[in-house]
Amino acid sequence: MEKIEHIGIAVKDLERSNQLFAALFGAPHYKIEEVASEGVKTSFFKTGPNKIELLQATRSSSTIAKFIEKKGEGIHHIAFAVKDLKAEILRLKEQGFVFVNETPKKGADNKLVVFLHPKASNGVLIELCQEIDSLK
Ligand code: ZN
Repeated sequence: MEKIEHIGIAVKDLERSNQLFAALFGAPHYKIEEVASEGVKTSFFKTGPNKIELLQATRSSSTIAKFIEKKGEGIHHIAFAVKDLKAEILRLKEQGFVFVNETPKKGADNKLVVFLHPKASNGVLIELCQEIDSLK
């Protein structure tokens, strides 16, 4: 596993939160992307070497909507960059980690992603992501 790729924050109102985080970082978001398959709209901020992803649900069945309903707004996941997603999945399975989705799916920001179930990682939802361009 490599560096923290980004931290994901669940928000109710992306537009309002974009203004809030732009004020916080002193720079606006650099990208908005909807992942229709996941029912989320995301925006990305850079602050120094770090990246923050804001996520807003676009439908009530979205995992973000369910998360906010249960826990309120706040930190939703921590994403780690990996070089070889398939190898990491195998390695972590051997260690007894449980996946939300074992088959990588396309996430925001040109990434293939899998999520580890928070029950097996101290309540923290962990995303592993690999740059799609690095697969070629
Ligand atoms: Zn993420």
